[in-house]
Amino acid sequence: MDIVTRFAPSPTGYLHVGGLRTALYNYLYARKNKGKFILRIEDTDRTRYQEGAVENLLNSLKLMGIEYDSGPEKEDENGPYFQSKRTDLYNKEVDKLLKDGKAYRCFCTSERLGKLHEEQIKNGKDFKYDGKCRNISLEKSEERAKTEPFTIRLKVPESGQIKFKDKVRGKVKIDYSQVNDQILIKSDGFPTYHLANVVDDHYMKISHVIRGEEWLSSLPKHLLLYHYLDWKPPKFAHLPLLLNEDRSKLSKRQGDVAVKDYLNKGYLPAALLNFLVLLGWNPGDNREIFSLKQLINEFTLERINKSGSVFDIKKLDWMNGQYIRKLDDDSYFEEARKWIDVKNIKEDKLNIALKSLKPRLIKMTDIQEKLKLFTQKKFKIVNEDAKKIISMNSTKVVLKSYIQKINSTDRLTGKVFQKIMNEIQKETGVKGKNLWMPIRIALTGEMHGPELDYIVEYFGKEENIKRVRKHI
Ligand code: GLU
Repeated sequence: MDIVTRFAPSPTGYLHVGGLRTALYNYLYARKNKGKFILRIEDTDRTRYQEGAVENLLNSLKLMGIEYDSGPEKEDENGPYFQSKRTDLYNKEVDKLLKDGKAYRCFCTSERLGKLHEEQIKNGKDFKYDGKCRNISLEKSEERAKTEPFTIRLKVPESGQIKFKDKVRGKVKIDYSQVNDQILIKSDGFPTYHLANVVDDHYMKISHVIRGEEWLSSLPKHLLLYHYLDWKPPKFAHLPLLLNEDRSKLSKRQGDVAVKDYLNKGYLPAALLNFLVLLGWNPGDNREIFSLKQLINEFTLERINKSGSVFDIKKLDWMNGQYIRKLDDDSYFEEARKWIDVKNIKEDKLNIALKSLKPRLIKMTDIQEKLKLFTQKKFKIVNEDAKKIISMNSTKVVLKSYIQKINSTDRLTGKVFQKIMNEIQKETGVKGKNLWMPIRIALTGEMHGPELDYIVEYFGKEENIKRVRKHI
């Protein structure tokens, strides 16, 4: 079987991290099986249409490196499909359903439906159309359609059961009595998601529908449509929910949900992808770091988890740190420059400062703050322990010797610094914390920070002497 998957977002604003995970799984499954991965913009709900949403979406996918193919219909060679351009196709299919008595026109006003809804809510029931227009004959409904507004509904059997197998959830059974006569064409003539989605999945030869669990309850309607239209349905895999820390559904109220927000905060695309893939899928062992290539090799639908996954930001932080460390220095320097305002930094020494921060970063946005250590002209020692150390007798001895020794060097590199410190230790007998801390505190005012080699080299001979001299 040719594998074709799709990501089918509705352009309602931005790419959600849950949407990105869905896109990623579809992408991985298609790439692994040498199939196609299609992007389809489900934009038939004109009331939810948002200016710029499609551009945002495409841009986010691009930034994340998720590339899509053109579909088997070769409609737009390089672009995604847009459902709003395909309404003729949906209308053609719905006409068939009408003729076959598998769908019917509904002339109920929104007022009537509102009342019905209210009553059902009062009685603690889910909304279900009561079937008032189900039995209007086709001739009569065609006649009325000339003058009255209408919708077209799916005629769901009144009794019986639908059984299906989901790749993640296993066997599922649902009584038709629980399934609503879904609207397929709205009164504005546009199809609903349900109709357009099924028709497109069929014509685009989608082999596997991989999507969020929230769509599982719609599956009986979709399967009924396949059955009525005499089409073979694709395979389905419904992905577990993404959860907040308190196990409620991941929501904006508890944190960021847009992919862009995470990118803007300095998470690397590769780290975000790696983090997301593990929210709902596992490799069967305890490995956690995967390149995209490895994922393409290893991804299987069988290893998708059933239960929801908590979006654990601490884990993402950890993952991002790992990815920063993994960058080769040149890529890291290039990436880092996107995140800093290089004012006050010695450009020729910037890479030394950046290198010193590499092992200590969680997000790229941390860099600017951490660079202050190098750019600040003045500082006060506030830490009590640091104050004690800097006023010790042995400190004076160390600092004096330090100045003497760097005075007689040409170029103060990290290596030279290590050599000097060795000599000082030998000559003064001071070692360990009492040897190293005075230098760190004199140069930065802090007890902790990046490796001294880098700090010393960044400041260079003159600045080292200037800063250290103050404490003698
Ligand atoms: N347009 C739907 C969405 O926004 C697609 C659901 C599906 O993949 O079938 O999530």
